[in-house]
Amino acid sequence: MLTFQQLPSITQGKLVQFTQPLPVVHLLTDSRKLSQPAGSVFFAIRGKYNDGHKYLPQLYAQGVRAFVLEQGEPEELKRLYPEANILQVESSLEALQQLAAWHRAQFSIPVIGITGSNGKTIVKEWLSQLLSPDELVVKSPRSYNSQLGVPLSVWQLQPNHTLAIFEAGISQPGEMEKLQPIIRPTIGIFTNIGTAHDEGFTSREQKVQEKLKLFKEVELLFYCSDYELLHQAVQAQCINSFTWSRQNKEAELFISATTTAGHKTIVVYTFDGEKQRLAIPFTDEASVENALHCLAILLHRRLPLSEIQDRLDRLHPVAMRLEMKEAINGCYLIDDTYNYDLAGLAIALDLQASQPQRGQHTLILSDVLESGLPEQQLYQKVAELVQAHRVQRLLGIGPTISKYSHLFPRAVFYTSTADFLKAFSPAEFRNEVILVKGARVFGFEKIVQAFQQKVHGTVLEVNLDALVHNLNYYRSKLAPDTKLMVMVKAFAYGSGSFEVANLLQFHRVDYLAVAYVDEGVALRENGITLPIMVMNPSQDSFVKLRQYNLEPEIYSLEQLQDFVSILEPNAKYKIHLKLDTGMHRLGFVPEDFEALFALLEQHPQLQVASAFSHLAGADEAVHNDFSQLQISRFRSMAAALEERLKYKVIKHILNSAGIVRFPEHQLDMVRLGIGIYGVEATGAEQEALRPVSILKTTVSQVKGIKQGETVGYSRKGIADTDKTTATIAIGYADGYDRRFSNGVGQVLINGRRCPIIGNVCMDMCMVDVTGVQVKAGDTAVVFGPELTLTELAQRIGTIPYELLTNVSTRVKRVFYSE
Ligand SMILES: *Cc1c(COP(=O)(O)O)cnc(C)c1O
Repeated sequence: MLTFQQLPSITQGKLVQFTQPLPVVHLLTDSRKLSQPAGSVFFAIRGKYNDGHKYLPQLYAQGVRAFVLEQGEPEELKRLYPEANILQVESSLEALQQLAAWHRAQFSIPVIGITGSNGKTIVKEWLSQLLSPDELVVKSPRSYNSQLGVPLSVWQLQPNHTLAIFEAGISQPGEMEKLQPIIRPTIGIFTNIGTAHDEGFTSREQKVQEKLKLFKEVELLFYCSDYELLHQAVQAQCINSFTWSRQNKEAELFISATTTAGHKTIVVYTFDGEKQRLAIPFTDEASVENALHCLAILLHRRLPLSEIQDRLDRLHPVAMRLEMKEAINGCYLIDDTYNYDLAGLAIALDLQASQPQRGQHTLILSDVLESGLPEQQLYQKVAELVQAHRVQRLLGIGPTISKYSHLFPRAVFYTSTADFLKAFSPAEFRNEVILVKGARVFGFEKIVQAFQQKVHGTVLEVNLDALVHNLNYYRSKLAPDTKLMVMVKAFAYGSGSFEVANLLQFHRVDYLAVAYVDEGVALRENGITLPIMVMNPSQDSFVKLRQYNLEPEIYSLEQLQDFVSILEPNAKYKIHLKLDTGMHRLGFVPEDFEALFALLEQHPQLQVASAFSHLAGADEAVHNDFSQLQISRFRSMAAALEERLKYKVIKHILNSAGIVRFPEHQLDMVRLGIGIYGVEATGAEQEALRPVSILKTTVSQVKGIKQGETVGYSRKGIADTDKTTATIAIGYADGYDRRFSNGVGQVLINGRRCPIIGNVCMDMCMVDVTGVQVKAGDTAVVFGPELTLTELAQRIGTIPYELLTNVSTRVKRVFYSE
């Protein structure tokens, strides 16, 4: 086993402190994912948004004793971490990569490396499914294909594996050189070349050249030679290749026809001079391309045709996302019914562990199939994972896991999904976070259905990864010591306040803000411990405010007088002073200052945590002069305040638009709102953000309407010709604005824009689907990436804020992570 003492020679680092021999088992790069301190080596990595060095004290306190660091004085480190082994390196990320490359070099099995613009993860998952009857496969978990993901993937290699499949993704030149020595593929797959990450490269040619660097040592490269640029580049470099093509009969695998038949695609191809046909169980273009890459590999391995067909038949779509949804009795369900292996289980357990406050953690787990490990060892590992993630209740389903019940004290076992469902009693589950993870054959979707609340056809899907992307985008604009307050008022702009707050807490923002005390109380009751500012606390809520450790915004003398009446003598109370610099909504004006200072001096229990103001026109350039005036007024008012208080307070004035427009006025903190939810209010940098929410509903009925007839209330929808209409399950009571009536609004059905016909009703509305393929049960997208909030808001003369916050609470929220 590798020990810490070997790290200096592998990574060219300096052993600045050595206290004890320790094994190197787990590579930890995210302090929040610590589950087994003994055996973990923490790599303190400095990223664009965060710095791993910040978490050393916490990890040391949790029992981690092995660190790879970039900074720190040896004497100081010795004092702070007397029992730790410490390796100092120039770059912790590079050290991690060097270690993974060293690990890779211990193995001589075939390694398939996959890169390309699209399809990497699917091809990897499918190949692993297709080859697992013959091989013990190790693969990248999910899409771990980055500078950090690749070393962590390769680290999983164990002596029992017979084949490895790793993916590599890059977004700029210079990155593949680092990944190649870690993966060192012996076989390559270049999936395709498209527009993804074009912005990072000077040309498409350069992108191809960079990606090809992964394959500099491969024995054979698989690709589709119909990608001209790719084909030329491979030829020029004389890489030994296996090509497939729809155009070139000389390709090793020539595809002469692909035709759709029901849910399948029939492929006619020539390989080795023989013409054959096969069926692929998918019809969309991307899936067919991905499957053809896999077919090329299977043919090259000389598998018999009937066997290939048999395995292809069993291919299933790869669930690329992990969904989190509200379930019965206040439970939360994490639905991860595909993609089942040990690494996938660990990732899902991590997600569950990041929801610490919602009561008990329950895991429903099936037999683990095709892991390649001996059973005993496999279930031992599962038991370790379950224990390390502090799962309180385990329900095991399947004959094999039942056999190892002794490894899982207190767990309950069922031999099949049907058995579980027979015994299922909803009342036994209450306020739990339930992770459902099963191999496909166990049909756990039935279990998911049993736990789900009844859904009325409309859901708001919230993409948690997009939210994090947007958070990081704004963070990248902040100076290193600027604090970040995120506004989660109004149910987090309609997105679901607890879930968003929980994610923000996980990503360590500094402050949250809500409008009312009740909103803050709800967050506290769900375990949110971040400081929370309440912007409009009413007098009758002051006691609750205190009880739940919420911090009030104070905006007037009257309000402050009310507040001081509840103060206890020896306590401390943090308050936030709102200054009116021109918005003229709430806040103190300079004329109030003398009285304000007097009150503050009389009540030393009050501690002014921050002073702030709000810009009235940050989203529009025409108001730039006024915004500047507000900022300068604020600066001088805050200075006067600090002078009288004789201490510094956190000063903040920028909202989302302000962060983009006035980066030089970040002061001590900024208040991020709509931007994190995916709308860039100035419009200038919308491209940099990812849309966070998609509002979807379903088609209830499709009707033919004769010319001259009318549709809906007040007979406003007039059929000027014969029409087909679809009735969809969303109305103004769900937050679909009535101003969208009569053609003003559109929804997307099967990729086509369909106008609203007639008036929007309370729970429904009708759309014109003439000429569009639609049937009852189809999905209608109300807003999303292809039908943006900004566009919809313009159509009815409002702003995206209103559309987002109007989505009614009766619309179910589904949170997912890719
Ligand atoms: C809502 C709010 C914000 C956030 O504004 P966005 O435009 O959504 O970024 C900031 N400050 C105050 C006082 C607010 O009420």
